Amino acid sequence: MTKLIYNTLRNLLYTFCYVLTGWQKSTVKGFILCYHSISDDNWDFSVSLKNFREQIDYLLQNYQPVSLSEIEKYLDCQLTLDKPFFAVTFDDGYHNITETVPYLKEKNIKPTVFLLSDTDHANHKEMDSNYSFLTYEDVQNLEQSGWNFGCHSATHPDFDELDEKAINSEISIAKADLTAKLGREIKYFAYPKGRYNTQVRQAVADSGYKLGLSMDSKMLTNKSDKFAVPRVGVMRMHSFTAFKALTLPLSTKLRSILLNAQL
Ligand SMILES: [Zn+2]
Repeated sequence: MTKLIYNTLRNLLYTFCYVLTGWQKSTVKGFILCYHSISDDNWDFSVSLKNFREQIDYLLQNYQPVSLSEIEKYLDCQLTLDKPFFAVTFDDGYHNITETVPYLKEKNIKPTVFLLSDTDHANHKEMDSNYSFLTYEDVQNLEQSGWNFGCHSATHPDFDELDEKAINSEISIAKADLTAKLGREIKYFAYPKGRYNTQVRQAVADSGYKLGLSMDSKMLTNKSDKFAVPRVGVMRMHSFTAFKALTLPLSTKLRSILLNAQL
């Protein structure tokens, strides 16, 4: 019940942001969305295929879809994006995201999926889920549809509990393992739960990744920290109006205050 009240309040706050600053929509340059699971179930991080399509259809009216490699070039100031843009990412590599393939193909959207390199030892407690993962064959099929893959650590640990050797294994060795498995360079790392500290951020940079993606509640600009790239998480509790408000500057500020206050 408390959760229901909390979610209702959050949706109301986002609706308030939308009503108050809806006119600012065109001023948002770009953002990266983070999804996890595509399902009708009740997990907080599941979004139904119907809602996913509705959300992306809405964005396509005002934004151009771009890949993460285009965002990398944008952050390196090698690419100018004239139109507002968005990219789609999926964390954890659950099999149920394949539900989106026909739709994303039709819209010519090429998402990036952040995989665990050692799914056999996945920390399901940290992930708060037990879904099956994409198989190697799934990954190959998705690659043929233009999907890209990054690393989301080896086992989805709580980095705060790890020593230096274990951090290296979760970041650097995970990169090498995925590179060997997929036969292509793994350039991007998404911090589990978006959480990182100075040591973890440095390990990602030192391991040769080009970008480190966080869940920081900040606006994405071409001056964003390449190892703390902000993303916007989409959850089941977000109403359609809340989704429309998620990327607005006022919502971003509000979310950052709420997160800092641990609310
Ligand atoms: Zn995750």
